[in-house]
Amino acid sequence: MRQSQLLMPTLREAPSDAEAVSHQWMLRAGLIRQLAAGIYTYLPLGRRVLRKLEQIVREEMDHAGAQEVLMPAMQPAELWQQSGRYELYGPELMRLRDRHEREFTLGPTHEEVITALVRSEVSSYRQLPLTLYQIQTKFRDEKRPRFGLLRGREFLMKDAYSFDADWEGLHRSYTSMYEAYHRVFTRCGLNFRSVEADAGSIGGEGGTHEFMALADIGEDTIAVCDACSYAANLEKAEYGTKAKGDPGKASVRMDHAFELERHYTPDLRKIDQLSEAFGLGADSFIKTMIYLADGDPVAVIIRGDHEVNEIKVKNKLAAARLELADQATTELVTGAPIGFAGPIGLKIPILADFAVLAMESGIAGANEKDVHLGNVRPNVHLAQAQAGDYRNAAAGDCCPRCEEGSLTFYRGIEVGHVFKLGTKYSESLQAKYLNASGTAQPFIMGCYGIGVSRLLSAVLEQHSDSNGILWPRSIAPYQVHVVPVSVKDPVQMDLAAHITARLNEAGVDTLMDDRDERPGVKFKDSDLIGIPLRIVVGKHAAEGAVELKVRKAGEIQKLGLEEAISFALGSEY
Ligand code: ATP
Ligand code: MG
Repeated sequence: MRQSQLLMPTLREAPSDAEAVSHQWMLRAGLIRQLAAGIYTYLPLGRRVLRKLEQIVREEMDHAGAQEVLMPAMQPAELWQQSGRYELYGPELMRLRDRHEREFTLGPTHEEVITALVRSEVSSYRQLPLTLYQIQTKFRDEKRPRFGLLRGREFLMKDAYSFDADWEGLHRSYTSMYEAYHRVFTRCGLNFRSVEADAGSIGGEGGTHEFMALADIGEDTIAVCDACSYAANLEKAEYGTKAKGDPGKASVRMDHAFELERHYTPDLRKIDQLSEAFGLGADSFIKTMIYLADGDPVAVIIRGDHEVNEIKVKNKLAAARLELADQATTELVTGAPIGFAGPIGLKIPILADFAVLAMESGIAGANEKDVHLGNVRPNVHLAQAQAGDYRNAAAGDCCPRCEEGSLTFYRGIEVGHVFKLGTKYSESLQAKYLNASGTAQPFIMGCYGIGVSRLLSAVLEQHSDSNGILWPRSIAPYQVHVVPVSVKDPVQMDLAAHITARLNEAGVDTLMDDRDERPGVKFKDSDLIGIPLRIVVGKHAAEGAVELKVRKAGEIQKLGLEEAISFALGSEY
């Protein structure tokens, strides 16, 4: 390809609203342009990278035995009503009507469509297992589309769905996808971890894993053991028994007379304010949070230095919705303004975290304005509470798997997700096969997603320097950039064209910068767009020599033509 003809509008500076590094480079290197919030056009370079990512995904899916299909983006609302998700999915679901006023959605995911397809096309256990996948545009009206392709409203996803006769079969299909995902992300040059994730109310045995690209901008927190292979999303992360504490401990002083102490704490509503006023660590306090679980108030009690894990609470209560209670509810339930809630005297269900129950005594809200109570004894005052793990794991907690190592936290971008669905959709949509004895059974399903366009951003979050992008070779838009220094010199131009043609013929994607620009401008652009190998054809062209620069390494090497070509055909860059 000749660069003079390529639509590659590079920018000297990124627009100020592009916060993420990956978004900045994508705009500056001319990979994408925004059409509306969370909706982008891929320009030629961006499209090439996306195609390479798609190709890696496709090869690994095919290798794992999955078959490619392509389903419609536009889906009748009835299907979503049958699965029960038409309402549940909420405002993220894009809805529209056709000319006959029939309702449709633009698919955010395809469980409904694939289940309906398999329901009508597959009827016997002999046709199982079956895994189908597609690489297709998805629509989600995200509340906060941001960071370029990291959270779009229209984005490219690979979604796969497996159908098995039993749970062992699902486990095999799941494992094979899990392994394929490892290969995909490794081939893309990504630094990633697979982590245990929360399966919510479905998920069955063995649940779900997320694949996280490690990056500070990531919206997820993951806890990783420094001694074994345990890694989990913070929403799911557990901790070892040592970190749970010993709830029996407080009973030692039960015989002792004790009285609650009243402390006047005007306007001290937050743990850090109390901590400062009392001169005590946050772990001396007892925090009481009022939630609404499917509309009913519950109190969650944790130690002052901990955070409530709402997913754990929600799972414990088997609630469909859990949200912090509004001010009015909190005041009604506690009889006090926000900031003074405490466990004593509450008439609603109370969930108390293990770490609170292990405290001998602590300071808690008095359910009275401007008052806190000291000498609150969890094993007395919280004797009626439901004990459990309701908090986030904390950095340094001991590992729940090996009980030896401790947990370290990282930020991650979720690039992939594998999930054991079981019969959630095959039951609601009545998708059944006949087993060997002729009985109708619901399919046991799994679903497997990769955010292909998000992956592009995730790779960029990890692969750039101050001058621009550092593409891993496997997904670079071009692998080699041939840059003649002077386009007015026919010797240079002939040699550059010769190298470009030879490499392209040999299957190495090569771009030639034939623009009549100063060398400085060309090199800057070359660094910006991050092609892994640059071949500069300059003053040594007459003697058949060129200069090579590996984008990542930076140093320049002078080589003869044939040597340069064989380097470009090799794998050392
Ligand atoms: P998130 O928690 O980031 O919203 P999700 O759990 O909703 O993700 P899934 O429904 O599992 O995502 O979708 C499969 C994959 O699609 C995700 O792992 C992610 O890589 C990608 N993805 C999801 N939402 C978006 C989006 N708005 N923009 C780009 N990629 C997305
Ligand atoms: Mg989402």
